[in-house]
Amino acid sequence: MKKDDCIFCKIANGEIPSNTLYEDESFRVILDVGPATKGHALILPREHFANLYELPEDWCQKAFLLAKRMAARMTERLGCDGFNLLQNNGEVAGQTVHHFHVHLIPRYKDDGQELEMKKSSPSQEELAKVREEICG
Ligand code: 5GP
Ligand code: ZN
Repeated sequence: MKKDDCIFCKIANGEIPSNTLYEDESFRVILDVGPATKGHALILPREHFANLYELPEDWCQKAFLLAKRMAARMTERLGCDGFNLLQNNGEVAGQTVHHFHVHLIPRYKDDGQELEMKKSSPSQEELAKVREEICG
């Protein structure tokens, strides 16, 4: 289902023009208007799902397969040196448009982009507690 006030629903369904790299009956892949690097693109489902939690599993499979295929194609054409997939869920995680999307971010040596995480150094005990919280 489409959502009337959702900009990505409109873009995905061609109601708002975009620089489209690929489209099929389920998805449209567009260039991001504020690219982190040259070629930064977004995979948009044509139906409205707010985030990964709402995305049905069959859509999830198709989205990841499409991400792999787009990464291969874009790497070949753009000659990038690596690739980030990024997928934000919830404002705290950096999601600004609440229509599920996958970022395709080509990376180039010396592109000056910083997507790296700040890492921590928990003890083995602390890690075991987290594992218990998730799996126990
Ligand atoms: P998020 O922060 O939600 O993971 O990513 C949203 C992305 O959508 C941002 O990278 C932003 O630049 C991009 N974006 C927002 N509005 C538009 C738009 O109207 N057209 C396109 N092509 N990209 C958009
Ligand atoms: Zn939408």
